Amino acid sequence: MATLKHSPLTYNVSQLLREEPGSRREYAFTESTLHLHEGEELRDIAGAARFTRTELGVFVDATASGNVSTTCMRCLQPALVAVEVTFVEQYRATVDVTTGASIAADRGEADEDDDAFIIDERHFLDIGSALREYAILEMPMRPLCKPDCLGLCAGCGVDLNQESCRCSETPVDDRFAALQALLDRKPQQ
Ligand SMILES: [Zn+2]
Ligand SMILES: [Zn+2]
Repeated sequence: MATLKHSPLTYNVSQLLREEPGSRREYAFTESTLHLHEGEELRDIAGAARFTRTELGVFVDATASGNVSTTCMRCLQPALVAVEVTFVEQYRATVDVTTGASIAADRGEADEDDDAFIIDERHFLDIGSALREYAILEMPMRPLCKPDCLGLCAGCGVDLNQESCRCSETPVDDRFAALQALLDRKPQQ
């Protein structure tokens, strides 16, 4: 199986895993960009995370803010949407830090969501994986470049933020004019 590429927000937790449950680490982080998915990325990231050693791995409690670069749903121009993300997630250890033996996922708790976040075999914990999921959840259904974006005119298609509607300037369509002329003539034939 291919190893997933880690985000820049990855921490080596091998020391923490050697400590007693309840042991903690705190980190402040900043990062310029985190890819979310096609056409969207989280930028200007700043946040803080607390890692707590648990029986199964590491419990992560984090808050972060950033701007998601996306497309305005009204005018189709690039848009930046500010998001605030808070999450608590358990990252499950997959390898025993002292013996190197792999740890089976099934610990008798049939909770498949627990498998969403893991600490890899080299004891790397990537908070980018959770940050990405939670940032996507925070995105509005219809992102806008600005709250009062005027969008595109449904008639003439101009970006109403940039120029005024040209609908009234458009002369009557020539094809309709020709049809009208035919109809006007018909009774005489
Ligand atoms: Zn817009
Ligand atoms: Zn128009």
